[in-house]
Amino acid sequence: MSAVDVTCEAPVILAAESLSKWFGSFGALDSVDLSVTRGSLHAVIGPNGAGKTTLFNVLTGQLRPSSGRVLFNGEPIEKLPVHRRAHLGMARSFQITSAYPELPVRENVRLAAQAVDCKVRRSVLRAAGHYEEPLAVTRDVLQKSGLSGFAETQAGNLSHGLSRRLEIAMALASRPQLLLLDEPLSGMGVDDIAGMEKFLRSLVPEHTVLLVEHNMPVTLAIADRITVLESGKVLTEGSPREVADNAQVREAYLGRGHV
Ligand code: ADP
Ligand code: MG
Repeated sequence: MSAVDVTCEAPVILAAESLSKWFGSFGALDSVDLSVTRGSLHAVIGPNGAGKTTLFNVLTGQLRPSSGRVLFNGEPIEKLPVHRRAHLGMARSFQITSAYPELPVRENVRLAAQAVDCKVRRSVLRAAGHYEEPLAVTRDVLQKSGLSGFAETQAGNLSHGLSRRLEIAMALASRPQLLLLDEPLSGMGVDDIAGMEKFLRSLVPEHTVLLVEHNMPVTLAIADRITVLESGKVLTEGSPREVADNAQVREAYLGRGHV
């Protein structure tokens, strides 16, 4: 059984309301609104320096916003530290590898599953009928991530593509409702990208995915909804087709030679 909280049926799982982040006098985020629908793959794209990572860090709790609100299942969370957000059901993967390189893949995923298996969470999940043993979670996550065949491989010996998968698998081990990914495709070759596209798509609708990504073609292919940032502001938001057809978006990307 999945640990996704089926009692939380609010259609909007994550929202940002007028979110701003100032670094001194520089506005990295300027009144950003965002609404992520449960069960969707929502992407945030934009040219370098648009504010994508800053938004990601404010949403996940690495950074406090200068003003504005972040709502998870309708509850304000902008003042909560990272670990409290994790216990509510948000998980992030990291661009810099967070796995123990000398340990096998299976052990890394098991440790990630155990890390969230604290007493409080266990009792809450048991009461809700959602509790799963870390070993069962590990097996399931390895299979879903396409890593079962690499379970005994030392994490440090994985290819770049597979180690990105492991980072996502470790985030999945906390059984999040919402998974936030910052540029999971960065540095990947064509073959790895195709596999990652399929993997990311397979995560919805069981998990909601918020993807911050620079790779425009892949984002257009897999996202349900796209928010485009430029200079810290929302340039537009829409379906992949609407975004692809938007003249301002084309200018923002093509004008800087990015696609
Ligand atoms: P993106 O991820 O879209 O490339 P970032 O969110 O990393 O953009 O950065 C947005 C802008 O904010 C950039 O101009 C960057 O230099 C600036 N910035 C990011 N973090 C800081 C910081 N800690 N201090 C000062 N400026 C920052
Ligand atoms: Mg970035």
